[in-house]
Amino acid sequence: MIRVLQDFVKSFLLIELLKGMALTGRKMFAPKITLYFPEETAPRSPRFRGLHALRRYANGEERCIACKLCEAVCPALAITIDSEQREDGSRRTTRYDIDLFKCIYCGFCEEACPVDAIVETNILEYHFEQRGEQIMTKGKLLAVGEQHEQQIAANRLLDAPYR
Ligand code: SF4
Ligand code: SF4
Repeated sequence: MIRVLQDFVKSFLLIELLKGMALTGRKMFAPKITLYFPEETAPRSPRFRGLHALRRYANGEERCIACKLCEAVCPALAITIDSEQREDGSRRTTRYDIDLFKCIYCGFCEEACPVDAIVETNILEYHFEQRGEQIMTKGKLLAVGEQHEQQIAANRLLDAPYR
C-alpha cells in the first residue's frame, strides 16, 4: 500500500521526468565523446586487424617465400596461393589471393607467417563497388603494403615485445 502511495506521489510530482531532464542537462554540458567520422577517428591499437597487405624488404624484394603456412592456417579458406621456383632457386608466389568476403579477420595468417610478409594493417575504411573486387590479388596486396609500409613497420615495432 505504501509503495503504491509512493509511486503515486512520484508520478504526481513528475520526479522521474525531472530526473531525466537533469541527466540531459548534465550531459549537455559534459565533454562530448562523439567523433565526426571520417574527419576524426578513435585511436587504433597496433594490433588492429584491418585490410591485408603484403610487404617487401627495403631492397624491394618480396618478403613472401610461398611457404603457404598462411593458406594452411586460414580457418575461412580465404587465401589461395600458387607458386613457382625462380631461376635462382628461390620460391615466390605467382598468385596470392585473399577473398575478403570469406575472411573473418582472425589474424592467423600474419601470426603464421615466418617472414612478416602478410600483415593486417589498421585500414578499415574500404569498400567494393563491383562483384569480384573483394578478391585482394597479389598486386593489390603489394600496393597496400608499399603505400603503408611506414605505418606497418611502426605498428610491428610497437607490438614486437609481445610477440
Ligand atoms: S585474417 Fe584469418 S580468415 Fe582472414 S585471411 Fe587471415 S587467416 Fe584467413
Ligand atoms: S605470406 Fe608468409 S606464410 Fe604466407 S606463403 Fe608467404 S611467407 Fe608463407
